[in-house]
Amino acid sequence: MSPETLMRGTGVVPDVGLGRVVLLNNSQVIRELIPFYCVLEEDIQTELDRFLQAVKTTKQEIEELKRSMSEKLSASNLAIFDAHLLVLDDTLLMNRTIEHIKKHKHNAEHAFNTTMNELLKQFSGIDDAYLKDKTEDLHDISSRVVHNLMHKDKLKEIDSIVITEPTVLVAQVIHPSDLKLLSNPNIVGIATDLGGKTTHTAIIAKALGLPAVVGLHDVTRNTDEGDMIIVDGVEGQVLIRPTEREISQYRQKHDMRVQLMSELKLLSDLNSVTLDGVPVSLLANIELEEEVEKARFFNADGIGLYRSEFIFLTVAPNLPTEEQHLDVYKNLVENVKGEIVIRTLDLGGEKFFHEVLETFSQQNPVLGLRAVRFCMKRKDIFRTQLRAILRASALSDQVRLMFPLISGTDELESVLDFLETVKSELDAERIPFNHNLKTGIMIEVPSAAAIPDLLAQRVDFLSVGTNDLIQYFLAIDRTNDEINYLYQPLHPGLIRVLRDIFEAGSEHDIRVSLCGEMAGNPSFTLLLLGLGLREFSMTPSSIPVIKKIVSSVSTDICRKIAAETLKMDTSMAIEAYIAEMNSKFVPEFGRIFKSLF
Ligand code: PEP
Ligand code: MG
Repeated sequence: MSPETLMRGTGVVPDVGLGRVVLLNNSQVIRELIPFYCVLEEDIQTELDRFLQAVKTTKQEIEELKRSMSEKLSASNLAIFDAHLLVLDDTLLMNRTIEHIKKHKHNAEHAFNTTMNELLKQFSGIDDAYLKDKTEDLHDISSRVVHNLMHKDKLKEIDSIVITEPTVLVAQVIHPSDLKLLSNPNIVGIATDLGGKTTHTAIIAKALGLPAVVGLHDVTRNTDEGDMIIVDGVEGQVLIRPTEREISQYRQKHDMRVQLMSELKLLSDLNSVTLDGVPVSLLANIELEEEVEKARFFNADGIGLYRSEFIFLTVAPNLPTEEQHLDVYKNLVENVKGEIVIRTLDLGGEKFFHEVLETFSQQNPVLGLRAVRFCMKRKDIFRTQLRAILRASALSDQVRLMFPLISGTDELESVLDFLETVKSELDAERIPFNHNLKTGIMIEVPSAAAIPDLLAQRVDFLSVGTNDLIQYFLAIDRTNDEINYLYQPLHPGLIRVLRDIFEAGSEHDIRVSLCGEMAGNPSFTLLLLGLGLREFSMTPSSIPVIKKIVSSVSTDICRKIAAETLKMDTSMAIEAYIAEMNSKFVPEFGRIFKSLF
């Protein structure tokens, strides 16, 4: 491998991190990175146990897979899984691996992989179509067993805090289920093959303030465990195996960033009011209770979006109980100044926690059973959460309830009916809750964005989820970095839709906020203010700079800018115009725009 490698991707957290690589176990990577080491005589039994346990887990997984596919596949196709199970019962394969471990004192991954490769070699030498087909099965099983062996190891390593020096996690993608691991204070950065600015890797990295570069395509191939790596989220690049000189340059950059953050902190004490006296609420999006502290630090007016799905992770593999939900909400009530918008579970799409919930096999999960659709199917899970939110509402009149991914009036009405049912149950049990609990919805499906007036008549507030709205509106999978370039928040169609939603809010006298990533991006602040937005909810660290912009402009100017963009017919023209207006009206932010976004 070359001594140093520069790779470009998308920077999502504008900070710099320097550390040693730990490769997260993504199955495709694993096959090429099978560890090889010798075990001590006294550890051979442990190694054998580890191997047998991994085989057992793999069998359970295959049986589970077979069960979940039983309605979709014919009996003859289901037999594929039996064939896989048979391989794992094969005494030749098992005995050879066990012998290898005993005789050569090699680790289980290496022993199993070597045995598998020997078998595959024998198969490839035989001119038999049936046996050739079987090699695919063997590859599949081999990677499953090795995955299980390595997965356990990796978790054990991290749990027993072997990570004692600054570490950068390198992975194909970071899943929400990796969150526990990311809270290790020695993790200083993230670099992933896949992903774009609004994927969950990015959102998680932002939430934790970890320097991150995503969409690097093959960073997992270009790094080895233990390599030094610089993650530069400002420039959107990573430098693998940097020279001493490069390391010292990056240290300087990091110091500058620390200085910038302290300047920003001073800005967060400003009042969030425009030059012509219009107040603008700046709220925080959080996913972890730990982030309440950050929201306070940056003087957020409240929590505009609490992504409650993360409660599910902390109790995995169980489902959270009503009391566990309530504990989290109580903690928010006790520690948050201002309102707290709790969004009900938004599970599904790319946010799928396999560890927690049964898998609904779906061809197209992003367009499938997610968020309220999932909750209305699993009312047991939904009821538990609604009861807890209602109970939390008795503790503070600042609690709000919000439903994600509502697609129309019929769906909304059935969700609201279910809420009424849960309320009646609490009443019957004489459990107190706020009968006037303010209830809102997220606008993130185009069909909902087309009828904001009809929806506004049925709820207390709307919140525009531009991450999903843009994805659905422009038909762009937000996790697919190949088409990231089409992700255009300044698409003329989207600007019109946003205008209509904000207008519907004022006409029906209900509050409208925006809680997608757009809200915290200073390039869009003037336009959003001009289109009528008065509540922005964002990653806490974005608050100071947005506040500075809000307090440096008047709504008159913003309205003119918005009116001008509404006349334009291409995203490119709008982007150029908005960039020009930003440098005209908030010129001092050129430096911050550059270093932050
Ligand atoms: C959104 O879609 O804009 C949003 C805020 O929700 P999430 O990113 O959690 O899907
Ligand atoms: Mg969303």
